Amino acid sequence: MKKINKIAFIGVGLINSSLARDLKNSGFHNSSSAFSRTKKTREIFRKLDIVDKVEETIEAAVKDADIVIIGVPVAAFSNVIKKISNHLKENTIITDVGSVKKSLITITKKYLPHNIDFVPGHPIAGTENSGPEAGHKGLFKNGFCILTPDTNIKKKSLDIIIKMWNLVGMKVDIMDSKYHDMVLAITSHIPHIIAYSIVGTVSNLEKSLKKEVIKYAASGFKDFTRIAASDPIMWRDILLLNKKSILDMLSIFKKDLAKLEKAIKKEDSKFLYDLFSKTRLIRKKINK
Ligand code: NAP
Repeated sequence: MKKINKIAFIGVGLINSSLARDLKNSGFHNSSSAFSRTKKTREIFRKLDIVDKVEETIEAAVKDADIVIIGVPVAAFSNVIKKISNHLKENTIITDVGSVKKSLITITKKYLPHNIDFVPGHPIAGTENSGPEAGHKGLFKNGFCILTPDTNIKKKSLDIIIKMWNLVGMKVDIMDSKYHDMVLAITSHIPHIIAYSIVGTVSNLEKSLKKEVIKYAASGFKDFTRIAASDPIMWRDILLLNKKSILDMLSIFKKDLAKLEKAIKKEDSKFLYDLFSKTRLIRKKINK
C-alpha cells in the first residue's frame, strides 16, 4: 500500500490526539495537520507538538489531505462535514471516531461529494477524561475498532483505514451501522444512563445522607461515579443521536429490572442466585 501523503485531524480531544500520537513516526503518512474549534485547544495542541501543523482554519487543515479524521462530539459532525465538503481534493477519504454511526452516514450522504468515500469508525477505547492533554500513546492497543462502511465505497479506502487502526494496535470488525448502534446501546450507552441516573439520585438525596453515601462509597458506587464523570456534551449527543436503539434496549432493561424488583419483594432467593451466577460468568468471559 502506498504511503499516505497528508492526514488531517479535525477535533483534537482524547481520541484524535491519542490517534495522532500513535500515528506520529509510524511511517503511515508524510505529513499531518490539525484543527480544533477554539483557539485555546489549538494552542494546547500546538505545544504538544504531535502533528506537523495546527491550522487556524478548518479549510487549511483539510486542504490536500488524503485522509480526514473527524473526532468531535457526534452532534457537531454535521457542521464539520458542511464546512469541509467544498474544500476536499478528489478521492479524499473521510473517517471518524464517533460513538454512533447510522445518523452520521445519513449526514455524509447529504453533504459529501460523490467522489469522497466515508469510512465510519468507532474505536472501542477511551476514558472519562477529555481534551488533547488527556490523550496518550497506546490508548488503542489490543482493542477493537468497528467500521461501518456502506457497500458503495472503494475497497482501497476501506483497506487504508483498516491499516491505520491495525498500525495503532486495534483489531478491526466490519459491521452494519444500525447493528453497531444497537450493540453499543446495550454495551455502552445504557451503562452510562444507569451511572448518570444513580449518581444523579445520590446528588438529589438529603444533604446529610449524601455526605454518608460519598464518605462510604465502596467500589460499587465509585465505579458508577467514574462513568458518570464522562463528558456531558459528548454523552448528551450520543444519547440523542442513538435515541431509537437506546429506547428499544432501555425497554428490555426495564422489564428485567422489574423482574428483579419482584424477586426481591417475593424473597425469591433462587431467582436472585441464578441471575447473579449467570452474570458472574459474563465477567469471567470478559476477563479471559
Ligand atoms: P474531547 O476530548 O471532548 O474533544 C472534543 C474535540 O471536539 C475538541 O477538539 C473540541 O474542540 C471539539 N469540539 C467540541 N465541540 C465542538 C463543536 N460543537 N464543533 C466543533 N468541534 C467541537 O472528545 P473525545 O472524547 O475525543 O471524543 C471525540 C469523539 O470520539 C466523539 O464523537 C465520541 O463519541 C467519540 N469517542 C469517544 C470515546 C471516549 O471514551 N471519550 C471513545 C470512543 C469514541 P475545542 O476544545 O476547540 O472546543
